[in-house]
Amino acid sequence: MFADLHLHTNFSDGTYTPEELAAHGRRLGFRALALSDHDTVEGCERMAHACTREGVEFVPAAELTAELDGYELHLLGYYFDTSNEKLLVELARFQEVRQNRIHQMVERINQHNVPLRVETVFEIANCRAPGRPHVARALVKAGFCHNLDEAFDRFLRKGKPAWVPKCKMSALQAIELIHQAGGVAVMAHPGLNKCDDLIPALADCGLDGLECYHTKHAQAEVTHYMRIAEQQNLLVTGGSDCHGLSKGRPLIGGIKLPYFRVEELKKRADRNAARAGVQPQTAKSPGRI
Ligand code: AMP
Ligand code: ZN
Ligand code: FE
Ligand code: FE
Repeated sequence: MFADLHLHTNFSDGTYTPEELAAHGRRLGFRALALSDHDTVEGCERMAHACTREGVEFVPAAELTAELDGYELHLLGYYFDTSNEKLLVELARFQEVRQNRIHQMVERINQHNVPLRVETVFEIANCRAPGRPHVARALVKAGFCHNLDEAFDRFLRKGKPAWVPKCKMSALQAIELIHQAGGVAVMAHPGLNKCDDLIPALADCGLDGLECYHTKHAQAEVTHYMRIAEQQNLLVTGGSDCHGLSKGRPLIGGIKLPYFRVEELKKRADRNAARAGVQPQTAKSPGRI
């Protein structure tokens, strides 16, 4: 029995609908799936229904963009109340930032004599939390780049002409935001952030877990982060970070997190909900028993 706790749909920069994602999850034999779209929980309701239909346990989640000491960090929130008002207000703010950033990125691309239309990007994105992958897809679709890698390498990577930083909340605020909604806060793909020194400070601020298993973590990194999780008394999670069909084979199925990790997560979520004085969200999806 296994789970994938890091997945994206077309409610952010993935290509699958929640229904397609849930169907892939069932086909691959997953017992539990989390939808962790960037800065949004809009897909969670449809994903919850789709998972119920497929006999898969659904884990509500989101991947929040945050920062600490100048580093961009992604914080995964699990089992929070997706209708929590404070959370929804903050997410709406970050969605607006993302939309404004698309305009800025396209302006910069236009300044480089590439007449990409911003409408093309928004049509492709068709969601409230658009990001660089949507600009990249628009550049390819309009024939300005051959593929997504070229779009990132020429324009969108950090330091390239159309790279625009995102205005982010602090990691500590993000942890607090997740906790006050009864959720569990997990640092996503630490191997991609290269800021291990910050983990003890995050743990002191209430971070609950570390995403040790991730598609882009080499085996040595998995072992390394498992050790840090043990030292810092953090829960262990993992997921594929599948974005659908944007680049060749979808990543779902590549990470199979043992299901007992989900049970540990649920226990922590119940504790965090009790501390926050909110209803626990762990019993909502019965899934396959
Ligand atoms: P954003 O949140 O707008 O900064 O965009 C970040 C997203 O871009 C992440 O989800 C990555 O998966 C994606 N990304 C980063 N580099 C590349 C690349 N070379 N090709 C395709 N997607 C990428
Ligand atoms: Zn993404
Ligand atoms: Fe991420
Ligand atoms: Fe992600």
